[in-house]
Amino acid sequence: MEKDNSSQNIIDIQEAQREYFKSNKVYIIRSLIFISPLFILFTSIFWFRYKNVFIFKFLKATTDEKVLGHLPYVQISRDSLLEIQPNILVHKDMYESLLKMKVDAEKEGIYLVFLSGYRSIKLQEEIFYSLKAARNQYALERAKVSAPPGYSEHSTGFAIDIGDASNRDTDFEVVFENTKAFKWLKRNAAKYHFRLSFDKNHNSVDYEPWHWRYEGSIEALRIFEKANREKSIF
Ligand SMILES: [Zn+2]
Repeated sequence: MEKDNSSQNIIDIQEAQREYFKSNKVYIIRSLIFISPLFILFTSIFWFRYKNVFIFKFLKATTDEKVLGHLPYVQISRDSLLEIQPNILVHKDMYESLLKMKVDAEKEGIYLVFLSGYRSIKLQEEIFYSLKAARNQYALERAKVSAPPGYSEHSTGFAIDIGDASNRDTDFEVVFENTKAFKWLKRNAAKYHFRLSFDKNHNSVDYEPWHWRYEGSIEALRIFEKANREKSIF
């Protein structure tokens, strides 16, 4: 008799618990339905109200380490470089991709020529200061068209300046964008993991249609992470 009672009790408890759980679940769902739109509304208001503060903080962090609008880059060791054209060295990780891009372009009658690859910080220093003096420019003006030493993508070995072999007058000129070579690159470079570094929307460096960077390896992506993060904001 005692045993029956206890088993009856257990059943009662189980049913009571189920009932409680059911009503609790309904309560939670109802609360969620009620709270969700409010939550979305308040987070949206918060985001739009303080978005600029977050972005400003991020930009301040990156602009603090910038010099004249350029991010810092370390110099790659000579062991990581290969000669792709006489006197043009590039990072060994991008060598094959770059060569393949050139060969594939040739199959379509487009002749690419490499103008400048890896540059040591020493060479960048000479370029920056000698051209600045020769052109009677202030550092700020000069930095729009050439990075200060220690701040050039060319020091990483992952940057390449490209010209049109059939139109050498356009080397390092904005009119390069009118050449067949540039139009081909615009359509195809991403397939080979290359992207334009300084496009028309860049906030501090002038448009350079000839300057491409490689983003086909983790090392390259890590190096250009800050530049890409900044780009995604604008
Ligand atoms: Zn360049």
